[in-house]
Order: sequence, then C-alpha cells, then structure tokens
Amino acid sequence: MSYGRPINPATTVVRHSGEILHHELEVDLCVVGASISGTATGLEAARLGKSVAIVDSLPTLGGQAVNSIIGTFCGLYRNGTPGHRFTFGIVDEMLDDLEKRDACYYRYGPMTTVVHYNEIALSRWIETSLDDAGVVPITGAILRDVETDGRSLQSVNLVTRYGDVTIRAESFADCSRDAALAYLAGLECREPDEAFYGSQQVVFEGLNTEAEPPARYEWSERIDDKAADYGLLCQGGLAFYFPWKDAAVLNTTHVETHLDPIEASKMGQIARIRSTGAIIS
Ligand SMILES: Cc1cc2nc3c(=O)[nH]c(=O)nc-3n(C[C@H](O)[C@H](O)[C@H](O)COP(=O)(O)OP(=O)(O)OC[C@H]3O[C@@H](n4cnc5c(N)ncnc54)[C@H](O)[C@@H]3O)c2cc1C
Repeated sequence: MSYGRPINPATTVVRHSGEILHHELEVDLCVVGASISGTATGLEAARLGKSVAIVDSLPTLGGQAVNSIIGTFCGLYRNGTPGHRFTFGIVDEMLDDLEKRDACYYRYGPMTTVVHYNEIALSRWIETSLDDAGVVPITGAILRDVETDGRSLQSVNLVTRYGDVTIRAESFADCSRDAALAYLAGLECREPDEAFYGSQQVVFEGLNTEAEPPARYEWSERIDDKAADYGLLCQGGLAFYFPWKDAAVLNTTHVETHLDPIEASKMGQIARIRSTGAIIS
C-alpha cells in the first residue's frame, strides 16, 4: 500500500568534524522570550517596519500562556463585576481571533472577568501573526552570552541543537520574565535572600463533567489533610475547570525552586509525584 511520498532509503554516513556550526543573523530588534509579552513586542515592532528575530529556549512559541496548560487570562479586566477591560492593542486581535474560532469563554466572576481560552488556538494565533508580520522565530535556543561595546548590547550568542547562533541587533527586548538577558548584559538584578517557591500544576483527566466539581474549600481541605504525608510545603489548593475539557488543572502546592540546574530538574520530578500522591491517595 502506498501512503504518498515514498521514504527515501538513501543515507550518508557522517561524523562530527569537531567544528561547531555557527549561524549569524542581523536584525533591528532581537526579542528574547517568545512569550505573550515577547509576541506583542515583536509584532508591534515588525508592524512599524523593523526587522525582528524572536528567540525562545522552548521548542514552541507562546511561553507560559501556551505551555502552562492553564488557559486563563486574569488581568485583562479591572476588578469588579462585570469589570471593564483595560488591556487593548494586540489583545483586541488576539481575542477576536479566539472568539472567531469559538476558542474562548468569558467568565464574569464576583471579583473580575476572566477569559478562559484554548491554548492550541492561542498558539496558532501567535504563530500565524508572527509569521504574517515577517518575524523570524528561533526556538530551542538558549542564551549563552552577550557582547557589548562597553556601553550597549551589540549581539547575543545562542546555543541550539543545530549549532550556535549569533544575533546582532540595534535593539534588544528582554521578555524572558527572569531577566535572563539583563543579567548576562551585566545589569543589576535582584534575587531573594531566602529560599523561594514555585507552584506545581497537576492535570487531572477524564473528569465526569456532569457532576458538580468540588468547591475551592474542599480542595484546600483535602490538601491540608494530606500535605504533611507527601512533603508539600504550601497547603491549600486551587482548581481550574474549563467548559470544553474533561480535565482540571490543580495548583496544589509550592516546592522549593533551586537555581542549580541539577537540583531544579530533580525537584520538578519530585513535586509532580508529591502533588499527584496527595490528591489521588
Ligand atoms: C502555572 C501557572 C499558572 C498561571 N496562571 C495564570 C492565570 O490564570 N492568569 C494569568 O493571567 N496568568 C497566569 N500565570 C502567569 C502568566 O502565565 C504569566 O504571567 C505570563 O504568561 C508571563 O508572560 P511573559 O510574557 O512575561 O513570560 P513567559 O510566558 O514566562 O515567557 C518567557 C519566555 O522566555 C523564555 N526564556 C527564559 N529564559 C530564557 C533564556 N535564557 N534563553 C531563551 N529563552 C528564555 C522562556 O522559555 C519563556 O518562553 C500563570 C503562570 C503559571 C506558571
């Protein structure tokens, strides 16, 4: 049976020459962090006629807004019911697109209005908008170092699976959310003196959507009961439900966030085991 294009069986044996592949790019603006803020920055600049490259260490565009599975915008509306929207510009286009695709839902809560959205639809909007505006994406690329002329940034050096990349630019925007570029550029950054904590999300699939979900206090009580048994540092829980999913995302606990790469990776795995254990035990 044929499935269209045949698999090409021809191969060539290659061996690493020892030379690191190196690519160069020159643009007006280099945005570090292809997140929601990076996307807005890149789009606005490209539409003003600037050449733009957008860089992210993840293999995808959209940062946390796409990849943290939470699918909720809090903060587009001011407090109060129904709450008036105060964030416009690129957000107008984004919400129009999500509405057209039937991929968002407005919840008018007691505190403010939140917008639940489908993360895949948002990621499509980000990809298409950046592509239409001619922004060059470089994903899976991590900042290694920067070059300055002693006064201002001249270029950034990135590491990717396909070799190193140098981007020279007239301007740079740090949308990494943890000041990755500012720090490498030698600017003063502030970090906490004591340990700090990151939240761990747990996704629960296969929910019975007909049944009334547990109330917020019920989740919190459940976590309080089990926290000590499972080594959870922050007690209480917050659940997010979505009208079109048979899944919920639970923000169940906080775990110590290490700045050491080995400890940070280890803690990420442990946190998942602890959080899941506390909920399903
Ligand atoms: C679990 C969770 C739940 C949340 N819930 C909500 C919510 O309900 N409502 C809400 O409004 N907000 C929520 N937030 C917060 C919201 O997601 C973020 O505030 C917002 O998306 C941050 O966007 P950003 O553009 O600042 O950065 P981010 O989305 O954090 O993007 C930064 C990007 O920079 C990249 N980057 C970082 N360092 C480097 C480097 N050295 N080299 C290359 N790339 C780098 C990262 O890969 C990332 O993609 C939540 C966040 C999390 C984690």
